[in-house]
Amino acid sequence: MTIFTKIIEREIPADIVYEDELALAFRDINPQAPTHILVIPKRPIARITDVEPDDEALLGHLITVCREIAEAEGVAESGFRLVVNNGRDGGQEVEHIHVHLLAGRRLSWPPG
Ligand code: 5GP
Repeated sequence: MTIFTKIIEREIPADIVYEDELALAFRDINPQAPTHILVIPKRPIARITDVEPDDEALLGHLITVCREIAEAEGVAESGFRLVVNNGRDGGQEVEHIHVHLLAGRRLSWPPG
């Protein structure tokens, strides 16, 4: 069980900004931008490399949730970045797929 499952089950606190039957979104504890929200499926899939065709609707739903959150946070027009880190070289620390929604400042490219 990862820390994100504990957040889903309310075993540890988080600043939750969105929830439905499939997804949860909460503010990153170590924000890298003025808006830094993690959007996760409630069903724990460890990595992108574990994704199966049956997961497509769930993962697509996460993008719709990101759009709704971007609008709610007031960054839909100014812009934002969605990031999914995968594995060691991708910088993934928590083995539960999550989409980082980053916004509120001009983000550089390429990423570090
Ligand atoms: P990753 O490096 O796996 O893509 O991202 C994991 C993210 O989870 C990091 O940005 C980290 O700050 C965040 N994080 C780790 N533990 C917690 C926690 O207990 N609460 C919250 N809100 N974020 C966490």
